[in-house]
Amino acid sequence: MKILVAVKRVVDYNVKVRVKFDDSGADLANVKMSMNPFDEIAVEEAVRLREAGVATEVIAVSAGVTQAQETLRTALAIGADRAILIESGEDLQPLAVAKLLKALVDKEQPGLVILGKQAIDDDSNQTGQMLAALANLPQATFASKVVVADGKATVSREVDGGAEMLSLTLPAVVTTDLRLNEPRYVTLPNIMKAKKKPLEVIKPEDLGVDVTPRLKTLKVVEPPKRSAGVKVPDVKTLVEKLKTEAKVL
Ligand code: AMP
Repeated sequence: MKILVAVKRVVDYNVKVRVKFDDSGADLANVKMSMNPFDEIAVEEAVRLREAGVATEVIAVSAGVTQAQETLRTALAIGADRAILIESGEDLQPLAVAKLLKALVDKEQPGLVILGKQAIDDDSNQTGQMLAALANLPQATFASKVVVADGKATVSREVDGGAEMLSLTLPAVVTTDLRLNEPRYVTLPNIMKAKKKPLEVIKPEDLGVDVTPRLKTLKVVEPPKRSAGVKVPDVKTLVEKLKTEAKVL
């Protein structure tokens, strides 16, 4: 069974993102980019399934600019077997990415497609769900445990106040939550090995997909600055201030 894993190149999660002068979006000039953290978890899960003998091949896919090849090399260093970059300079929105992935699902026929539950740059939380709908596959989102056996995936999902267990018939789409696993540390020998693994570059046209954006971002604004807090000497003063100043008591 093949596993297809979607990995997105995003602003590194440690970077404090700034908004551009004209409020048109985040300023990405000279900003460190990395693999979306949920996608690292997706690659780790796929590689563990291959190591356990459940899967035979892990294919990492990214859609985006040429530099997304670096992100794919990281996926290969974690342990993916080969990679595909769908190269495009267009602003790729979730529906476009879902259509590209659907075309690859048709071509590669994976038993499982694993995506992150959300990309930390656009926070859309849409691509996996759209892919499942387009490819007519069962889906389990926000997975915290995945067990694959006998043509089925048993997935625990994180839901408000608890967990839900689903059984899906393969092929299926799974999106990862934070607690699914802890991705391994990428070692230097594996980074070197990853350089020799196959990385194919194709274009959206090769998959017959129109990736023209459907949505236009009107404005992006930073959250309002929080005013500094004050220290009070005792509970009596606190209660007094809550009554007279904050007027919440
Ligand atoms: P989103 O729906 O944008 O929050 O993204 C959810 C997941 O879809 C991500 O965690 C990735 O696994 C996948 N994804 C989104 N955009 C891309 C992309 N450009 N290339 C590869 N995978 C992507």
